[in-house]
Amino acid sequence: MSQSVTVIGLGPMGQAMAAAYLDRGYEVTLWNRTASRADALVARGAKLAATPEQALSANELVILSLIDYDAMYGVLEGAEEAVAGRVLVNLSSDTPEKARAAARRVAELGGTHLTGGVLSPPPGIGSPDMSTFYSGPRAAYDQHRAALEVITGKTDYRGEDPGLAALMYQLNMVVFWPAMLSYWQAVALADAHGLTAADIAPYVSENFAGMGQFIDFYAARIDAGNHAGDVDRLSMGVASMEHVVHTNADSGVDTAFPRAVLDAFHRGADAGFGADSFSSVIKLMKKQP
Ligand code: NDP
Repeated sequence: MSQSVTVIGLGPMGQAMAAAYLDRGYEVTLWNRTASRADALVARGAKLAATPEQALSANELVILSLIDYDAMYGVLEGAEEAVAGRVLVNLSSDTPEKARAAARRVAELGGTHLTGGVLSPPPGIGSPDMSTFYSGPRAAYDQHRAALEVITGKTDYRGEDPGLAALMYQLNMVVFWPAMLSYWQAVALADAHGLTAADIAPYVSENFAGMGQFIDFYAARIDAGNHAGDVDRLSMGVASMEHVVHTNADSGVDTAFPRAVLDAFHRGADAGFGADSFSSVIKLMKKQP
């Protein structure tokens, strides 16, 4: 088991990861474009490398936590020779195609690339309950699994294809960002009526907590090709979303986000799905044969 690690990229995520390794007694080497972000970690005993090359040379296991994959190429420029023999665990967000291209590039340089997608905000890093997707060479994952479990206690290895972990992460982001935006919309509407974010938080949380039942119910029906309007009808969804848009408009609140939802419902109704479930809108979203 590796007891030393390099962390490159010290945004909130990279800082939390480096801190988690220090908590577990690892020797931690750091590099960040803005060196001052390492100050608190160096005060705790981490070593700050002067260059990416030094950071790569310090340890076999190198964690990358950058804004995106293009940033990785910038960091590696001039340090290419130091990649040989290293396992680069890239926990930066990007597309599956970018992850595959990065894996090819790292392999060309004689290194190993593991793609990761962390399902935790910075405060959850180091927690046994949080989880991270990984994909890439199984042997590298197995070899460094204990060290990866320092970042999140749960790891979910998806397969050899370096794009898979990125795909699973992006699938989660497809749901996460709009879901949170729907909460921001509710906060803006509540604010127009003198209610705070905290006032509505319990109701929104309860709403989100109940979503699992909807997902399970619709998943089975969708996979069976069943979009029957026996439980809900898209025409009802159109009317309901119109009420949402009008309530926001009447309150002087921006309506761009609810209008985007209403537009998708209208397109479903225009396609003839008005009497079917609102899940039939998926048919318009899918890649067309
Ligand atoms: P930040 O944007 O705060 O940090 C990004 C890091 O990338 C910084 O270290 C920054 O350096 C570095 N960076 C950006 N551009 C370049 C560049 N051109 N060259 C070199 N370094 C560069 O992100 P987070 O720490 O919040 O997140 C890191 C990754 O983790 C992202 O891909 C994010 O999507 C993902 N993620 C974030 C979560 C979160 O809740 N924050 C949750 C799950 C995943 P500098 O300090 O010099 O600006």
